[in-house]
This record gives sequence, C-alpha cells and structure tokens, in this order.
Amino acid sequence: MPSPRFLVVGAGFSGAVIARELATHTGAQVDVIDSRPHIAGNCHTERDASTGVMVHIYGPHIFNTQRQDVWDYVNRFATFGPYVNRVKAHTPRGVYSLPINLLTINQFFGRDFSPAEARAHLASLGDHSITEPQNFEEQALKFLGRELYENFFHGYTVKQWGCDPKDLPASILKRLPVRFNYDDSYFNCLHQGIPLDGYTALIEGIFDVSGVNVRLSTTFEPGMARDYDHVFYTGPLDAYFGHQHGRLGYRTVTFDRFEAEGDIQGNAVINYTDAAVPFSRIHEHKHFTPWETHERSVAFREYSKETEAADIPYYPKRLVADLDLLRTYADLAAQQTGVSFAGRLGTYRYLNMDQVVGESLDFAARCVTALAQRQPL
Ligand code: FAD
Ligand code: UDP
Repeated sequence: MPSPRFLVVGAGFSGAVIARELATHTGAQVDVIDSRPHIAGNCHTERDASTGVMVHIYGPHIFNTQRQDVWDYVNRFATFGPYVNRVKAHTPRGVYSLPINLLTINQFFGRDFSPAEARAHLASLGDHSITEPQNFEEQALKFLGRELYENFFHGYTVKQWGCDPKDLPASILKRLPVRFNYDDSYFNCLHQGIPLDGYTALIEGIFDVSGVNVRLSTTFEPGMARDYDHVFYTGPLDAYFGHQHGRLGYRTVTFDRFEAEGDIQGNAVINYTDAAVPFSRIHEHKHFTPWETHERSVAFREYSKETEAADIPYYPKRLVADLDLLRTYADLAAQQTGVSFAGRLGTYRYLNMDQVVGESLDFAARCVTALAQRQPL
C-alpha cells in the first residue's frame, strides 16, 4: 500500500509537531506550506543585524509549561537557557512588580504585611456586592478592589483589547495570578526557559525528519487538497471558509523599534498601565538571554490595535459576537471531510506554545491510531 500523503498548512509550532509525528509514526509523505518566507509562525526569532541580539520578531515569547512530556519534547530539539520572566508594571503611581505579589502589595500600600495580613487586606478592599463576577472588571473589583484595578489593569486592558473591560470575560484576568508571597515569576509553571538558539532553530529541528518537506512563501488554495489524503490546517478558521459568514475578531500588535548603547530599561518586559501612555509595553530582547553579552541593545514599544484585512491576527478576542460566529464556523468545519483544524488560529483559541505543542502531540497520536485502524481522520 502506498504511504499516505498529507498537507499541513502553517509552519508554526502546531504544524511542525503534527508534520513530524505523522511522518515518523505513519511513514506518510508530509508537505508543509506557509505563506510567510520563514518557519516558526509567530514564534519566529532572528538575530538583529545591528545589535546581534536574538529578537522575537512577533513579540516576546517565553516558553513555560506544567506538562513534563511537553518540556521533554521541546528539549529534544533545543537547549533552553534558564530564563524566568519577571515583569515590571510602570503605573501612574510608580514602578511595581507584576503579577501582583507581596512586594507589590507592601510597596503599593506602604505597609509590611505578612502573607496572611496581605490576603486579609485585599479581601477588605474587594467589592463584596459582586457574588459571581460576570466580566473582567467585576473579577478585578471583587478580588483586588478599585485602587489596584485602576492602577494596574484598567488602562492597560483598554489599550490591549480596545474595549471597556466590562465587555471582556473574567477569564482573561484569571490568567494572571495574585500571590501572597514574594514569588515574582510571571508564570505559574514547572518549567520555563528560552531556547539558546531561538525558536526558529528549535522548530527547524522538529521539521528535520525524513518524509517532511517544507515550502515557504506558499499560500493555501482549496485546489491543493486534491493531491493529498488529508489536509491539516493551522491558519485562521474563518479564512479557510473565505470569511463567508464574517470575520472573527482579533487584536493585532505593531512595534516601534529603537536601539541604544548599554541597557535601555534594565528588564525584558515593562508594562505601561496608564491609559495616557499610547503603547502597552516595552520589550528589550537582550534581557531574554542574560547569558549573552551585547554592548548595544534593541527594544520595541508595543501598540495594540484592531485587526484589518491585511494584518496578522494575534489575539483572538472571543467577545460574545465572536463566539456566536465561531459556532457557525465550527459547525461548517465539522461538516468537512479531508481536513482537520488545529492550533491557535485553526481553533480560534488563546493558546500558549506549550498548549499548542501538547495538543498537537495528542492530536497526532489520535490520528496515528485512527490510521492504524483504517478509520477516517
Ligand atoms: P502560528 O504560530 O500563528 O502559525 C500559523 C502559521 O500558519 C503562520 O506561520 C501563518 O503564516 C501560516 N498560515 C496561516 N494561513 C495560511 C495559509 N492560508 N496558507 C499558508 N500558511 C498560512 N506563547 C507562550 O507560550 N509564551 C509567550 O510568552 C507567548 N507570547 C506571545 C506573544 C504574542 C505577541 C503572541 C501573539 C503570542 C504569544 N504566545 C506565547 C502564543 C504563541 O505565539 C502561540 O501559542 C503559537 O505561535 C501558536 O502556534 P500555531 O502554530 O498554532 O500558530
Ligand atoms: N493585564 C493588565 N495589566 C498588565 C498585564 C495584564 O491589565 O500589566 C491584563 C490584560 O487585560 C491582559 C490580561 O491581564 O490581557 C492577562 O494578562 P496576560 O499576561 O495573560 O496578557 P496577554 O497574554 O493577553 O498579553
């Protein structure tokens, strides 16, 4: 029996893991295409020509995970440097540690609370009239009170999402921990790090297996499916259907690059939470690789905006109207044969790299089993 032929659309983390696993475990010929001239999708990294710093071209990416199997998997293709993301917030009241932790609370309120006292203080500031928070703002007011909400979250969120925080789901705020100890790591996770040679080299390693063939600067067209047994599509779900029912909402970000001698801001990421400051954060990429030495530094002011047709979709908004539209596209997707949808864009979900790797490994394993049992994918 001839080996199956698969087409993977998208050479980001999800496309790379799916392609490798299928080629390795089914003997399939897997062609991968990407409309961009490089692999790695939004995780693409490149050395900056002027400073030599490894730059995360589409915004800062810190690998962090709770899944041991995912950590073991990515470590097969890269050596990770021991980086822990420690963000600072530039607020209208000064610069503080973020996520909110015991240092933030003590400095912000000018106190020396113990963990239990800090917990009790925040509980006393919370809005007790809110029983079940229905949105981002209610979640913040219930658990943090108005002062912390206004200084750390309101302005930043309006800039980041372009809407009133009352219109956002509470789940967005729940992504950020509040800690009553001095742990200032941005992520709650078992493993965290940055690949020494960048993400693009890591993903190149995933693609480096017999049976996988990557073609760049090639955009998917429906006619291409004819040459394959199955298509794995990791581009935007609504784009696959020609946006026939409308566009799913995304926010996009733009960057304003600048460079200088030495150290620009003393940290990899500083968030600007004041609505009057037009950018949402500044990232200085040499701080992501503290094991490297660079005399000059490069940094980016990040601005958030609504996505227009030509923009790269970054953050799925998932407002009520988007979720209604998503159901329409998900129904259409379920009626298709010969194509599966995966990844952050293909499923219109807010997924971190480790989630994408974990889901792609699980998904590929299910496909391998189905193929072995001669069941449809
Ligand atoms: P993508 O990386 O978007 O890859 C999809 C690929 O498909 C793209 O290369 C695209 O060009 C291609 N494509 C789309 N349509 C077509 C088509 N029609 N034809 C051909 N090719 C097509 N995650 C973390 O874990 N930690 C972080 O710190 C972190 N920071 C982030 C910061 C920003 C600003 C953003 C936007 C995301 C961040 N993420 C982070 C999330 C991370 O980027 C995603 O989890 C990851 O990129 C998803 O991989 P993917 O392969 O699903 O999608
Ligand atoms: N947020 C904020 N101020 C900050 C950092 C985060 O208001 O300094 C809010 C913002 O709405 C963001 C959410 O908290 O979308 C979750 O934070 P996360 O770091 O996960 O942000 P994202 O990945 O969306 O940039």
